[in-house]
Amino acid sequence: MLELKKIYKSYQTGNFKQQALKNVSIEFRKNEFVAILGASGSGKTTLLNIIGGLDRYDSGDLIINNNSTKKFKAIDWDRYRNNCIGFIFQNYNLIPHITILDNIEMGMTLSGVNSKTRKRKAKEALKKVGLLEHAHKKPNQLSGGQMQRVAIARALVNDPEIILADEPTGALDTKTSIQIMDLIQSIAKDKLVIMVTHNPDLAHEYATRIIEFKDGEKLSDSNPVTKEEKDTSSLKIRKTAMSFLTALKLSFNNIKTKKGRTLITAFASSIGIIGIGLILSLSNGFKIEVDKFEKNSLSQAPIIISTQAMNMSEEMMESIDNGDNLEKYPKEEKVYVQDDIVETMLHTNVLSDSYLEYLKKLDKSLLSGVSYQNMIGFNIINHNSDGYHLVTNSSYWTLLPTNPNDKEEGIVESNYDILAGEIDENLPGLILQVDNKNQIYQSTLDALGLKGDSITFDEILKQELKVVLNDDYYIQYQDAFVPNQDLESLYHNPNSISLKVQAIIRGKEDKEVITNGSGLAYTNRLTEMIIAKNKDSKIVKAQQEKNYNILTNQPFDDSVTSNNTKEFILGYLGADTIPSMIYLYPKDFDSKKEITTYLDQYNEDKTEQEMIEYTDMAAMISSLSGNIMDAITVVLVAFSSISLVVSSIMIAIITYISVLERIKEIGILRALGARKKDIKRVFNAETFIIGLTSGFLGIILAYLLTIPTNHIIENLSGLANVAKLNIVHAIILVIINVILTMIGGAIPSRIASKKDPVEALRTE
Ligand code: ADP
Ligand code: MG
Repeated sequence: MLELKKIYKSYQTGNFKQQALKNVSIEFRKNEFVAILGASGSGKTTLLNIIGGLDRYDSGDLIINNNSTKKFKAIDWDRYRNNCIGFIFQNYNLIPHITILDNIEMGMTLSGVNSKTRKRKAKEALKKVGLLEHAHKKPNQLSGGQMQRVAIARALVNDPEIILADEPTGALDTKTSIQIMDLIQSIAKDKLVIMVTHNPDLAHEYATRIIEFKDGEKLSDSNPVTKEEKDTSSLKIRKTAMSFLTALKLSFNNIKTKKGRTLITAFASSIGIIGIGLILSLSNGFKIEVDKFEKNSLSQAPIIISTQAMNMSEEMMESIDNGDNLEKYPKEEKVYVQDDIVETMLHTNVLSDSYLEYLKKLDKSLLSGVSYQNMIGFNIINHNSDGYHLVTNSSYWTLLPTNPNDKEEGIVESNYDILAGEIDENLPGLILQVDNKNQIYQSTLDALGLKGDSITFDEILKQELKVVLNDDYYIQYQDAFVPNQDLESLYHNPNSISLKVQAIIRGKEDKEVITNGSGLAYTNRLTEMIIAKNKDSKIVKAQQEKNYNILTNQPFDDSVTSNNTKEFILGYLGADTIPSMIYLYPKDFDSKKEITTYLDQYNEDKTEQEMIEYTDMAAMISSLSGNIMDAITVVLVAFSSISLVVSSIMIAIITYISVLERIKEIGILRALGARKKDIKRVFNAETFIIGLTSGFLGIILAYLLTIPTNHIIENLSGLANVAKLNIVHAIILVIINVILTMIGGAIPSRIASKKDPVEALRTE
């Protein structure tokens, strides 16, 4: 059944060629106990390794069950070892980090025998060698003789036809040697046992045939096979393959033996994950905060449609000529005028009547407030114990938005507390806003004609100002108009409109971000009354006729940004002009989208000049902050990624060290029939475990670190629980980490799988 035909094997070391086997031919019977004797270095081990398929012959042929092995591929040899051969080594060669039972099962595990059968067979084999009660011990908890018995059990368990034993008693004392020999003899009954030994006494006592070797040649054969004995049975070999699960178990057990190192490795390589995890959780959290802010507060910030719209779009920014098309250090003796950046970015909106009509058709329920602002100038006089004063800073006052929906809360009610008085949009009046400390500016106080450090609400509500009409205020002198200086008589003029502070308001506590501040606002009714009375005043009529500024007697500017245009002055004087600013206060985030869509629709069929552009401050703020956040995140993640790469390299080194440590195990596994692929799997499994461990460790630590991080952020900014680790990010990071560590371990795993099994077994 097994025949060596002129097997030749030599080893090349440097220039020296060592002939280990010189055309050896031997035939073996299906069932016999062959002892091979010979001096050290005579080629006995080489012979066994070749018979066992661990080593390849240079020439000749090995015939197994009448099949030549000349055309055997690596995989065939692996299967052959797994199915047909049981190895017993002088130094036992047990895998140290798994139990005895697992060691015995390994061959069957490699050939995919199910766990139950494995356990049963392994226990049977252990029973045969008398070690059943030691099943769950690790090899180093046994004596030499016991270990050799385990090795015999392992060789037997897969029921191979050939048992190869290389000096099985070489490391044992005489008494134990005899026990082992008895054991081997008992299993030799129905198998071919080829045993190498130094001990001629043992050989003669137990073997049925003795072959002597010398210098790589067969010297004698006590019982050669005769022609009549030849059999014709053929070879049947099962497949072998290690499942990834087995590889995992093997590596897991190995890793368990070096917990400390594995943990430190995992921790070190998790630092990248921690960094990225923290950064992502922070940027994720900030995004949520910004979103919230946008939804709660910014969504109520108005959409502004003004005669001049600031266009901050990217194309606009790019189109600004920053002199790029000019030569640097020009040679010509010329001076160039820079483009006006502001004017380039400004879009002049012509707010026509038809546009105002279009706006009127906007669904009112989307709005919580509107204001159509004219740049109207007020002729206002206040009165106190010092006398009468012209209010000069009324251009800083704002127009109180009106609530377009009677039944619902408007922008004012929802954002401000009314501290005193009552807002009545239908009356001309002032609304005084105080800040969160009930403070106002001195200039506001002066405008109201009040004095002191603290003024009661009552005093403020009682204070009466007067709006003087144009025809009383401007005295015509020939072609020019000059203001009337007699403030007292103007104040008491019955035409003058009485103006009082209707209400004192303060931003609500939770709306501080957009409402904090102070100042005066006036009702739309005031503007309407003034326009109604002033639009036909003499000065307005005169200004409509003249093409110069009637107040200053100066020509108008032609710059669109100037306050010195006919349009502006007419508006200022209270002619019935088209509003120059329109504020639309969206009810909420969703309405805002609808409003902007509606405004965009107007522009669809318009030329560039006809287009009406609006300014969405909130969107600008949030897109700006969003972009900055994204950029910062990308940069920080990129930096942390470097540590991921570093940790991959570290894993590669650690895996390589592990490969070096486990070379012996690689040899054992190969002897048991493991394929190169399986070896690769064992180490890939190891890096998989480390990658997974470090990934999870990183995520857990990153998660824990968000707690103090949130504390710090809360102390600095008052925002609670900003850093939030997104579960999807966490999973992706763990996967990336596993992939990276496996890439890091791939090269060492390949090196491991390429190890020559014979050399691997030889290493200590
Ligand atoms: P034995 O087992 O009979 O002591 P071996 O079969 O181990 O002898 O070795 C036979 C000869 O081949 C020895 O001279 C040994 O030095 C040589 N040899 C064995 N393996 C190698 C190897 N991998 N490289 C170089 N020489 C080797
Ligand atoms: Mg030897």
